[in-house]
Amino acid sequence: MPDRHVAHLLIGGGLAAANCARWLRESGAAGDVLLVGREPDPPYNRPPCSKGYLQGKESREDTFFRPAAWWDEQRIELRTRTTVTKLDAVARTATLSTKEEVGFDSALIATGANVRRLPVDGAELEGVHYLRTLGNADAIARDAAEAERVVLIGGSYIGTEVAASLTLLGKRCTILMQEPVVHARGFGEQAGRFFQDVLESHGVEIVGDDALARFEGDGERVQRVVTAAGRELLADLVVIGAGAAPEVALARAAGLELGEGGGVRASARLETSVPGIYAAGDMCEYDSPIHGRPIRIEHWDVAFSQGKTAALNMLGGEQEHDVVPYFFSDLADWASLEYIGPARDWDAEVVRGSPGDGEFSVFYLEGDRLTGALSVGRGEDLAHARRLLAERTPVGERLEALADVAFDLAEL
Ligand SMILES: Cc1cc2nc3c(=O)[nH]c(=O)nc-3n(C[C@H](O)[C@H](O)[C@H](O)COP(=O)(O)OP(=O)(O)OC[C@H]3O[C@@H](n4cnc5c(N)ncnc54)[C@H](O)[C@@H]3O)c2cc1C
Repeated sequence: MPDRHVAHLLIGGGLAAANCARWLRESGAAGDVLLVGREPDPPYNRPPCSKGYLQGKESREDTFFRPAAWWDEQRIELRTRTTVTKLDAVARTATLSTKEEVGFDSALIATGANVRRLPVDGAELEGVHYLRTLGNADAIARDAAEAERVVLIGGSYIGTEVAASLTLLGKRCTILMQEPVVHARGFGEQAGRFFQDVLESHGVEIVGDDALARFEGDGERVQRVVTAAGRELLADLVVIGAGAAPEVALARAAGLELGEGGGVRASARLETSVPGIYAAGDMCEYDSPIHGRPIRIEHWDVAFSQGKTAALNMLGGEQEHDVVPYFFSDLADWASLEYIGPARDWDAEVVRGSPGDGEFSVFYLEGDRLTGALSVGRGEDLAHARRLLAERTPVGERLEALADVAFDLAEL
């Protein structure tokens, strides 16, 4: 017999689990809701960790999903600093790091992702950081206070955002990456060139088409980043942004089916291979009705919206997760991007507007269909793109119209 029983067990103290808890209550769930997360903080938003919180403009409490009192008001039991160490999908019980065994009627697994670590020489030196949590942001800020030169490894959103934030704090930042320009992998070289120009115009140095070889130091602290091409970049602080990998250890051990994208496989209703156990957020690989294939996405908005879909279905709903994935990123207050997609293997890009004026969109096409769109300062383009993507409208014959700012996209 388990030590106790709850109606809904939510595993993982991130955004997906938090928004699931909220929607369980907003949808009238009457039974016990227990949310178990291993971090010391209550559920919080991670985006400020590389932006406002790192810059010192937002407080810790500003990042919280809800103020501390809200959890009690909602009768949601929040267990921080607690790990679910075992999930028995057949007996429908979970074992916590406190040794308690909890039975449940329905469960959500939302264990998120972990940073991808780079196993190079010198990675253990002081001053070499990864960024995933508020605690990581605190450690980076502490080292940044003493640092002059910062090297960011990776030219995606963590590398570019942290470079912008630390430049605001007066640091000399260099981005080292394998791509020719920042964001090239996700958004292509045309859009990437725009963001690279923004960064360089604010003094960020960018080293592309190269790779990290090792870190060197004085035996304790990092002093240099050595690249594959033999460059030596001075550094008293390094932040590595080399992607994240879904955290599926618990799910795998429980026998939940995993997908080719490394996540926990889920249906369009976000139910895993075990009825009554749902998945949401960075580790959820679901049958997307929008894309017609399984996808797994690591975006704030996806974790948020999937938390809601899972909650509705845990209460017996028949809700498919038919939301077009949305992403945003800010480079300090210099430039912001919004994106829907994800386009993975696009074969055409159409630019609408003028990157030179700082207002443009890029549409990504696979065959004659739109599979992604990025926008800087042209939010209305994104709204039309969302509709074209969701409705799978063929646009291959209308490339000139897509590029023409005088053409009303509502006509497509
Ligand atoms: C620095 C940073 C900046 C970002 N900025 C943006 C942005 O600008 N825009 C955007 O769209 N996205 C951004 N993201 C991505 C976004 O924050 C994530 O997609 C989102 O946080 C995913 O939420 P999640 O709940 O799925 O997972 P997570 O936030 O990873 O939460 C999962 C939680 O579960 C806990 N956990 C894991 N296993 C267990 C276990 N067995 N027992 C108990 N707890 C467990 C983990 O410790 C973690 O706290 C950013 C991410 C980071 C790190």
